[in-house]
Amino acid sequence: MSEPLDRSTTWPYDGRGEPREFHYQRFGSPTVAAAEAALGELDGGTALLFPSGAGATTALVLSLLGPGDTIALARGGYYGTGVTFAALAPWGLRVVEFDQTGLPPEDVQLVWLEAPSNPYLTLPDLGAAAAHPAPVVVDATVATPVHLRPLEHGADFVMHSATKYLAGHDDAMLGALVCRDAAAAEELRTFRSRTGIVAAPDPAWLLLRGLKTLELRVQRQTETAAFLAQHLRAHPSVDTVRYPGLGGLLSFDVADAETARKVETSTRLIVNATSLGGVTTLIESRSRWEGDRVPPGLLRISAGLEDPALLWADLEQALG
Ligand code: PLP
Repeated sequence: MSEPLDRSTTWPYDGRGEPREFHYQRFGSPTVAAAEAALGELDGGTALLFPSGAGATTALVLSLLGPGDTIALARGGYYGTGVTFAALAPWGLRVVEFDQTGLPPEDVQLVWLEAPSNPYLTLPDLGAAAAHPAPVVVDATVATPVHLRPLEHGADFVMHSATKYLAGHDDAMLGALVCRDAAAAEELRTFRSRTGIVAAPDPAWLLLRGLKTLELRVQRQTETAAFLAQHLRAHPSVDTVRYPGLGGLLSFDVADAETARKVETSTRLIVNATSLGGVTTLIESRSRWEGDRVPPGLLRISAGLEDPALLWADLEQALG
């Protein structure tokens, strides 16, 4: 069954002139609420949607933190999260990076983890983070609820770039926060309505549709990523292969930036583009975006749904 898509920005008051559950889209809308309910069930909390993953990140830190507060940020995670925090530095937000496989530093007001991190593919020590007095956020974009439900491991919030696996078809930009505590979710909802960092119905409808096939897609993408990682490990031109055994994302190193550029521009089936989590397999060299943060020969692959044997054949010919 397909859910209706309601694009209205306003709905009539009831017969007594009182607002109903939905009255103005910035405060909530039926299609967004339906997608939030579906995602909340998957992650075991209260979900709220935002216009992008970066929008969800911004809303969370602005609502939870104040000037002078410090975020402990997992080193080697999505570089854009650090860029978002740096954009908020003029408002007094501080960041310290740490190794998420160990203990978060003391004297921070928020712990930000990524499971697994993009593109280093490390997994956080959730137990160590949960013992920290500050609230814990897990960016579980790459794991998805199919592989990890961080709220069950003591996290306070899950963040998703729903643009990726959750919507899953490279055609919807969305972010999500799933909250363990219903009162915290209500505070965020109020902050979202007041600041207007709110998701629109059309991408929410695409998310609803994407969630119906999430498990099947992620299972297949995981099998394919594991298959590619295994073959890459045996290839003489490949150095380090990073794959933690879950999810559809992997990265590996070739000799240098020039070789990486040659490989990514030589694939025929695998598309040379950024992003991850869609049905099409993508490859890109990350140093074009992240500079010295990553080895110059680091290539990231997001496994899609194509035939794994054809993907490996394509990659093998591109590796020369
Ligand atoms: N978190 C991770 C792990 C990501 O890979 C991305 C985007 O690549 C984001 C967050 C940001 O999400 P969005 O592009 O939807 O703003």
